[in-house]
Amino acid sequence: MQMACLDLEGVLVPEIWINVAKRTGIEELRATTRDVPDYNLLMRQRLRILEQHALKLSDIQQVIAGMGPLPGAHDFLNRLRERFQVLILSDTFYEFALPLMRQLGFPTLFCHGLEIDGEGRVVNYCLRMPEQKRDAVRALHQLRFKVVAAGDSYNDTAMLSEADAGILFCPPKNVIEEFPQFPVTTTYEELYSAFVKAQENF
Ligand SMILES: [Mg+2]
Repeated sequence: MQMACLDLEGVLVPEIWINVAKRTGIEELRATTRDVPDYNLLMRQRLRILEQHALKLSDIQQVIAGMGPLPGAHDFLNRLRERFQVLILSDTFYEFALPLMRQLGFPTLFCHGLEIDGEGRVVNYCLRMPEQKRDAVRALHQLRFKVVAAGDSYNDTAMLSEADAGILFCPPKNVIEEFPQFPVTTTYEELYSAFVKAQENF
């Protein structure tokens, strides 16, 4: 049996922070690591904004539940699970992902966690470990699994390189240009075919 490792945001669900910004109308929440390269600084800024707007975890979860997965994502995932053991490797937080995982039938997810106070406010975040996507693939190799991985962005490229086969899904142009070694797919049909093709080459 082979493992399929999937990124979450941009592959199965929309970008969470960008959509929370859209749906709440809080423009400052749109900032990403492109605007604030220091991730810790960016996260502290996001938590400060949530506090200023008195947004609790339950408010954000409600917004996220309304987003839903990307159209076709659930069917794609079910199809993939017939051929692979699927593991989702994401840099999001369990508390944010929960409403979307429910809509995807609770697949296995490795990500990070938030610290919530007694009144339901998000007070801190806890990264389980750095480079968890790459290191998860390494650990799967030690368990003698072959791994096919797919993602859409820079934070996936170490995982794709570590895997036996890496696939890009709807990546931005600069990622395509910098990583020409990975096949590019733009629909779930193409992505599924790329997984099957990789599997047939093992
Ligand atoms: Mg992504």
